[in-house]
Amino acid sequence: MTHKNSLIFRLAVPTILNRLFDYLAPENINLNEIEVGVRVLVPFSNSEKVAVLVEVCSDTDIETAKLKSVIEILDDKPLLSAKDMQLLHWLCHYYHHPIGYVFCNTLPVLLKKGEAASLKQETYYYLTEVGRELDDLTLERAPKQQLFLQRLQQHDEAVNTETLKSWDKSWRASITALLKKQFIASEERDSVSYHPLQSKMETALTLNTQQQQAVNKLTEALGHFKVFLLEGVTGSGKTEVYMQLITKVLEKNQQVMVLLPEITLTPQLESRFRRRFSVPIVISHSKLTDRQRLESWLAMQTGKASILLGTRSALFTPLKNIGLIILDEEHDSSFKQQEGLRFSARDVAVMRAKLWDIPILLGTATPSLESLANVEKKRYHTLHLDKRAGAAKDPKLVLLDIRNKRMQQGLSAALLTQITEVLEKDEQVLIFLNRRGFAPTLICHGCGWVARCQRCDANLVIHQQKRQLRCHHCGDRYQLISHCPACQQNQLSPLGLGTERVEQLLQKTYPKKKVVRLDTETTQKKGQLEEYLAQINRGDADIILGTQMLAKGHHFPNVTLVVLLDIDSGLFSLDFRAPEKLAQLITQVSGRAGRGEKLGKVILQTRQPEHPLLTTLIKQGYKQFAKNALVERKMALLPPYSYQALLRVSAFDEATPQAFFTALKPITEKYNQGSILVLGAIAAPMARREGRYRFQLLFQSEQRMVLQNFLRQLMPELAALKEAAKVRWSLDVDPIDLY
Ligand code: ADP
Ligand code: ZN
Ligand code: ZN
Repeated sequence: MTHKNSLIFRLAVPTILNRLFDYLAPENINLNEIEVGVRVLVPFSNSEKVAVLVEVCSDTDIETAKLKSVIEILDDKPLLSAKDMQLLHWLCHYYHHPIGYVFCNTLPVLLKKGEAASLKQETYYYLTEVGRELDDLTLERAPKQQLFLQRLQQHDEAVNTETLKSWDKSWRASITALLKKQFIASEERDSVSYHPLQSKMETALTLNTQQQQAVNKLTEALGHFKVFLLEGVTGSGKTEVYMQLITKVLEKNQQVMVLLPEITLTPQLESRFRRRFSVPIVISHSKLTDRQRLESWLAMQTGKASILLGTRSALFTPLKNIGLIILDEEHDSSFKQQEGLRFSARDVAVMRAKLWDIPILLGTATPSLESLANVEKKRYHTLHLDKRAGAAKDPKLVLLDIRNKRMQQGLSAALLTQITEVLEKDEQVLIFLNRRGFAPTLICHGCGWVARCQRCDANLVIHQQKRQLRCHHCGDRYQLISHCPACQQNQLSPLGLGTERVEQLLQKTYPKKKVVRLDTETTQKKGQLEEYLAQINRGDADIILGTQMLAKGHHFPNVTLVVLLDIDSGLFSLDFRAPEKLAQLITQVSGRAGRGEKLGKVILQTRQPEHPLLTTLIKQGYKQFAKNALVERKMALLPPYSYQALLRVSAFDEATPQAFFTALKPITEKYNQGSILVLGAIAAPMARREGRYRFQLLFQSEQRMVLQNFLRQLMPELAALKEAAKVRWSLDVDPIDLY
């Protein structure tokens, strides 16, 4: 029975059920005052939940007597605009993710918990006219007050108590005294509305022709949807282009969203931005506190801040007046979320730009094949920066053939000679090895036993310093053993190479030189990475050794030699994306060489010097590699020439997933008219992980719409299967790896 004449709230409630829920509006409510996009508190299966109001209507298919009432409306004004909600609806449809989760989990944690949507007011202290002019002698007899005054004089903006506390724990007495003397003053305000001094601002550089062209093309496009792919070799001055573009957008009183793949890259860009722009800039990434993230979110949503710098999760921040999106290192797989709502921040950012009718700039030195295919289809427009900016020259790449060469802990004699030469000139060497730990395998020389994880199909990695064996997949740790559990002999030996092992060798070979190791282990402590980076830039490091981390956009001007130690394993992966990832990695790591005035050199140690991937990359560069790779993908009908969705299923035994697949099969067949390629179900490449047996089923089609229509029919029935409740399952649309 349909009931009329009562006000119904249609809500996105955070639950796995992929639909909206109807509730009765609170009594005595004025229809004109209600706007969608506010949060409400509702009763939901024995508890209370914060939900988002998506629709107000007067009809419902449910008997009103059965409907529950909304407890409370939490916001005066909508948190989400109509367009913000449109984007969330699109996400829900495209990724087939429950609508309540999409709406609620993309909110900052504190808002999800019902916290008020208002910026925190705090006391801020700043120098008065008198205080600014004060000389050192005036407070000679009050050294602590003098210290605070000096600190404030060095600071170009007001500070809150947290900052004062970080200068000196017992700050209160001195600050009170300074206030009394009227050397400083205070005000109550939020963290965003500040007025930095203009005097310290740095001016824009003079652009070269290509940079200028890029800025012009984008400036012309402001106010319209257009996707630009900025292909700029490493060090070509992409960031300068970003900054001059941002200036144009700020001149129009609009806001800019800048997305980076990795948290570790934000401080570097933040400080460059702060030197250039005198507008409020906010940061958003997962290492911030919930409060900080909420503050950034609100600052953008209310229009108080002008620039948002963040990682993929920042993408859902509502911007009051967005004018441009910039997404740097667009090829980076960190833009793909790998759990929950498995979205691609790049793809969603493009969709966002489309909905708001604004341009988006995707920057990289090594475009993803997806983006290149979009250029081919004329959906994206390319801009080029072919040369390094300033004085820096392109680095020289060479292959070092190590077949039949004597090796010392993975380093050939020829390589060590080259490293020594560079170190003698007091220049820096960067060594890349994408494996942390001491060695990836512990093997028995007597009987062939290998240390394996009990919960995963994986070898345990030796961590010598900690005297541990660790599984890099589930995190389990065991004591490092000296006797083989199978044959009891003490003939266990490490096999393969990890950063810890190379560090040891380098320390021993160059005892007078400073080696800095950068991997997730050495940079776990908060602030540690920043400290190492500062150390490197001060010149307090001679050899920089590290993993993946080094491939990202860091700028080390004094590095003249870059070494890639063990890339061969990447040449033989079964993943069809492995060559693309390897070529990007090699090019990106190489880009760390010779970014200053001195010429850079890159050495790749390999036993595959004739491998086409390597020879193409060395002789013709990434672009030619990408061209070839696209041809191969096209012939094999692989993405980006087809579209995939991966269904992952796991359980603590093998039979339950099998029962699930058996139940799913007739549904798949019912909706697949033959245009969907169904592969599997098969065991995942790592068949067991954290004790769970893992399987997958791949759907593929040459047309995105066909795949989407199929999933739209399939997913509700899949979710309703009773067998589905017994396994852990997830759907990954446009998966970037099959693990
Ligand atoms: P990318 O982001 O492309 O790797 P960056 O923007 O970091 O490159 O620029 C690399 C270096 O070149 C920086 O030190 C930058 O200040 C300098 N640079 C950029 N553009 C110019 C320019 N037009 N003239 C002189 N130097 C420039
Ligand atoms: Zn043994
Ligand atoms: Zn494990």
